Parts: sequence; structure tokens; C-alpha cells
Amino acid sequence: MALTGMDIYKLLPKKNCKECGFPTCLAFAMKLAQGGVEAEKCPYMSEDAKTRLSEATAPPMRTVRFGAGDRCYTLGGETVLFRHEKTFVNRPRFAVAFSDTMSNEEIQSKIERMNKVDYIRISEEMYVEIAALECKSGNKDTFLSLIKRVKDGCKKAVPMIITSDPEIARAAVEECRESGPILFGADEQNYEAMVNLAKQYNLLLGVTALDQEKLYDLVQKIQNLGYRELLLSTGSTALKQVFDDVVNIRRTALVSQDRTFGYPTAVFAHKLAKEKMMQLAIATLFVEKYASVIVLDDIDYSLALPLFALRQNIYTDPQRPMRVEQGLYRIGSADENSPLLVTVDFALTYFIVSGEVERSKVPAWMLIPDAGGYSVLTAWAAGKFSGKTIARAVKEFAVEEKLKTREIIIPGKVAVLKADIEDELPSWKVVVGAEEAALLPKFLRDYTGK
Ligand code: SF4
Repeated sequence: MALTGMDIYKLLPKKNCKECGFPTCLAFAMKLAQGGVEAEKCPYMSEDAKTRLSEATAPPMRTVRFGAGDRCYTLGGETVLFRHEKTFVNRPRFAVAFSDTMSNEEIQSKIERMNKVDYIRISEEMYVEIAALECKSGNKDTFLSLIKRVKDGCKKAVPMIITSDPEIARAAVEECRESGPILFGADEQNYEAMVNLAKQYNLLLGVTALDQEKLYDLVQKIQNLGYRELLLSTGSTALKQVFDDVVNIRRTALVSQDRTFGYPTAVFAHKLAKEKMMQLAIATLFVEKYASVIVLDDIDYSLALPLFALRQNIYTDPQRPMRVEQGLYRIGSADENSPLLVTVDFALTYFIVSGEVERSKVPAWMLIPDAGGYSVLTAWAAGKFSGKTIARAVKEFAVEEKLKTREIIIPGKVAVLKADIEDELPSWKVVVGAEEAALLPKFLRDYTGK
């Protein structure tokens, strides 16, 4: 049960020293009870009190990690069932399935397709984060050679080792331990050995059982062994049942506040449907509710584009506009005489406009002022995209020193800004540009006479 502010206060050192940033220990306790501050902010708390507090104030769903270096990912840590309540925090990660019974050609072509899907959408790198490597042969050497091959072929993907044989699992972990793999396959028969292995290498451990009840019992046993870096999955291969399992696990953790199910889940979409588009439909379902690892049979752009875009949309904080950094951006081989356009720092606007400028093949500059992260009309209506903000950006990014041009092209929808900008920048001429981004290529070609 959650601790009250007074329960927490009793555990504090009561020095009232203010080092936590609060005027008294009581004020700190009240904030901690609301989840507005972390227990570590008080440097004088005893270890015992720290453990009790961090357990009692931790979110009902644990945040777990896998990977290494700049390929380190967090899963779980969600606090709400619905995105309109509050943002979702840790996006699901996608995996492509390999097994050691596949032919060499099949493995090679999957590796190539995985590597091909690699692009940036609204400042986010999109690629497959996990290679799910299943030992089906039961032969350690065959499995190790698959791991080596995929590890060498897909540098960006973290391996997920799938086996229920602890001996094979140990050799497999040794083969790729530097990438921080996920170890998947702890079950009723092997869980003690698998927990020992996961503990030794500090790995995220995938736990599976035939149904929710058996999974619940198994997780309790694993927690009693002192391990909590878990990823859950029921073994069902029926879509309806898997959906029920995943939703119920999330509800048990968040609504019933039962931390036995307070872990992220994995869904093996490639085992629920064979047909590619059906797998895509299943994967989209579980992006929304509530899988943290989604395994697909394969990947290409027809799957990745809708799936990764959906994930980005669902896992973006709706209360915080997506912005690009303010600055002066060179498009193509623009030089000091190239045209200068100005637009807002709302990421979607920036990427649409810069895409159209690139499409025009006219080298150009784009000036991005601080417009609050809003779209053009909203920023203008809110006073965030005005003569003053544009003039400030011209100064801040030393546009007059870098460029010879003294003409600035503004979006056609805010032609009304022309006089305002010319007041702020008397030596500049303001040109009213295209009303829609799609009309920019023609506008730029006409403007430059190219
Ligand atoms: Fe109290 Fe600790 Fe904050 Fe000091 S740092 S006021 S002891 S809670």
C-alpha cells in the first residue's frame, strides 16, 4: 500500500537542513508522497529507509533496461492505461525473428532487409532495435553460429536470446554479452538456473508460462529469488488470448497496484499470424495496448513506415510540441547568395518545408526562430511568430554576417507579417512565399529564375 506523507516523514532524519531543496523534512515528505521528488534527494537518509521508500514510492510498473552503450533502451515504467490521462513513457521496441534452423540464404536476406530499414523521421532514428534469436535446433554450436552471424551483420540490433536450455543460454550470453542482450526463456522448469545467469550478467530476463495464473506464480517465485529485471509473456498463440493477457497484466499492475505483474510484456506477432499485413495489423494493436517488445517475422519499408510512425505518434507527449532546434539551416549547397526562407520551429512544419525545398533542387537557407513549437498560424495567432521573433533570430544566428541576401521569404499564410518584419528589419525586403508547402518548389524556381 502507498505510504502517506506522515509515514514517510517518520522515516526521515528530521534535520530540516534544506539540502533536498525543501524548507522542512515534512514538506519534502509531502512532495515525496505525491511522487513529485525522488527519495535520493535527501542525503542523510539511512539505507534501510531509502530501500523502504524507493519500493513504496516506485511506479507500479518497473522500468527495466537492456542493451549497452548508445544502444541502451528502457522498457516499462508506465503509469497510466490511457494516453489521454498522461503520456506513455517508454516506447515499444521492434524485433525481427531469426532461428538457427533457417537456411543461410534466409538469414542473409533478413539481415540485409533489417539493415535497409534505417531512416530519420522528425529527428528520431528509425530502425529495428532487437534481433530475436531462437534456438530451435537444440544444438549449442548451431545456435552460436547464428548469434555470431546476426551480431556481425546487424550492428544496430541488440540480441534477444531465446532458449529454455540454461547451458545453451550461458554460451549464447557469453557470445554477445558486450551488447547487453535480453535472455528470454525462463519457465517453471528452469527458472532458478536462468535467474542465476541473468543475475550474473545483469540481464533483462524474459519469463514465460502457459497462462496468466501460471505466469503470476512464476514471477512470484523469481521475485522471491531477488530478481526483478523481467519481461513477461504468456505462451498463448491465439491472438485474442494474447491480447487479453497483455491488457490484464497491465491492468493488474496499474489498476490493482499489484507489482507481481508490474513488468513490461513481449508479444511474438510472428507466431500469431503468418501473413505479412496481418502481422502488421497485430503489431499496431500491441503498440497501442501494451507490448514493450514486438517480434515480427521480417521487416521492410511497407511494414516499418506505418509501424514506426504510429509508435512515434503514440509515444510523443501530447502536451509538449515537437520542436526542432532554432537556427539557420543550409539546404543543399546553399551559399551566401542563396534565398532565405523563414518558418516556425514546429518539427512537422520544418520537415515538410525543408523536404519541399530539397525537392525544388534550389539551394536555400531556412531560418528557424523560437516560435514556441507551434504551427505557422497558431504561432502567429499566439504572437510567437512575429516581426520581433524573426528579427531576433536574424540577429542571434548572425544572418547578416553569413549571407549577402537581404530578402526573406515568409509563409504565404502569414502575409500579414510583411509590414511588421520590415519595421523590425528596415534594411530587409520581405517576400511573401507560397501558401502551401507543396507549392514551394515552383515558387523557388520562379523566384530564382532557375
Ligand atoms: Fe530533511 Fe533530508 Fe531534506 Fe535535510 S535533506 S531537510 S534532512 S529531508
